Amino acid sequence: MTQRSFTDLGVAEPLLRALRTENYVNPTPIQDQAIPQLLAGKDLLGIAQTGTGKTAAFALPILQHLSAGQRSENRIPSENRNNGGREERGGRNRRRSTSRVLPRALILAPTRELAIQIEESFRTYGRHVPLRHTVILGGVSQHSQVRALSNGVDILVATPGRLLDLKEQGHVRLNQISHLILDEADLMLDMGFLRDVRKIMAALPEKRQTMLFSATMPSDVARLAGEILNDPVRVEVSPRTITVDQVEQRVFFTDTPNKRSLLSHLLQDADMSRVIVFLRTKRGASRLAEQLEREGFSTEAIHGNKTQSARQSALTNFRNGRARLLIATDVAARGIDISGVTHVVNYELPNIPESYVHRVGRTARAGAEGIAISFCDATERTFLRNIERITKRPITVVENHPHQSTTASRGQARPSPSGRRSAPKRQDASRPSRPSRRRPASGGTAPKQQTSPDGPTSNGAKPKYQGSEGQTAPGGVAPSAPRTRRKRKPRNRVSAA
Ligand code: AMP
Repeated sequence: MTQRSFTDLGVAEPLLRALRTENYVNPTPIQDQAIPQLLAGKDLLGIAQTGTGKTAAFALPILQHLSAGQRSENRIPSENRNNGGREERGGRNRRRSTSRVLPRALILAPTRELAIQIEESFRTYGRHVPLRHTVILGGVSQHSQVRALSNGVDILVATPGRLLDLKEQGHVRLNQISHLILDEADLMLDMGFLRDVRKIMAALPEKRQTMLFSATMPSDVARLAGEILNDPVRVEVSPRTITVDQVEQRVFFTDTPNKRSLLSHLLQDADMSRVIVFLRTKRGASRLAEQLEREGFSTEAIHGNKTQSARQSALTNFRNGRARLLIATDVAARGIDISGVTHVVNYELPNIPESYVHRVGRTARAGAEGIAISFCDATERTFLRNIERITKRPITVVENHPHQSTTASRGQARPSPSGRRSAPKRQDASRPSRPSRRRPASGGTAPKQQTSPDGPTSNGAKPKYQGSEGQTAPGGVAPSAPRTRRKRKPRNRVSAA
């Protein structure tokens, strides 16, 4: 099949011009499948994660619909505004604006960073269409948000909590919404936003176009999708394998106390110029950031305990290269799009295998290649096995490094006495699990493997590998500890020495 262009998909000229400026030559698979359906007015269930180009997939049709629509329909005279009469008091404001544009598109995002990023995308793609957009999020003063709303907006990007707050204060009306997008719905529910989302839904007109995007489709998300979508088109892209396939994956077996020294050692390599380091907890992230900063590495940290402005300034410093390292937790980093990330370091392996794929997707974005390095201690063997199970790719083991652990690399995991593994509760994204004080993988419990309908596919390719010191992988065979004595794919081993 020949590749369709954005013009073939029906995207209009002012938007095409913006895409040309961005050097988007071809639509990504999700754009190719979703844009024509959305332009035709269908509801959509999108199973896709950040990095697939899903923002443009929903932003372009919204911009096109709204710019073609009649703006007068969603204007209200200033006298009717429910803003406490503040603007009416000032004669200057009264002369300047006699009606307010009410939002017609609402995009709900679970995290503040993601909301900001989506609004930036609307600005980018919509630079040649006369529509106003703004972002509403918590953690900062509501003052400028209220002002933007009272000046009128067509497109509202919001996190649910602050939006409800402003709605209850009468600063925002949602009765003209014709387009609703729930982005990263799985994370939204993980973060406990379901009640807020339902309250917001109740304030929207029934007649609207609705899109729900989610990286995974657990039952609570599927139920919500069933409630809010009307005869949706289902579009599914499988980024997990795609993303991982573009990434060189390496694992270093080491002991927990040696992880920091190992990281410092690896950072002697100047090629590690823009590195995101993932930990499971906010506390661990803070501590590591301080330690690395003390060692002289320019470091920023981003996690839920930071204020919004601190998170934004950390991201800015990392984006513009002032900081070489960004220490992050899963929730804070989800959805963040930063180009040119050379390496992702899993300082602690995630207990949910999907989180590994999300993390690794921070490098190798938009077709570029990247490197993912994982530190695995004896307690994390099970996590590693579950990751390899969903990615269907053995991760290359780097041997002979200065902080090697034989305990961790021996792979002693055995099934529990009952022969079955109990599954820990799904990780609460807002309250990360406690790290390290886990029982060793041997005889321990295995994390619940969260699967989604977009089950990974494998292209069966062996990972190509350049060792950290530049050697080519010998591609040796290494059996990893099996749960049952099943044959598993060989894991490559390379020597760092
Ligand atoms: P998203 O999944 O929307 O966060 O997009 C991930 C990255 O892909 C962003 O940096 C976009 O700018 C980029 N992107 C989106 N669509 C395209 C495209 N058609 N061609 C090239 N890059 C794209």
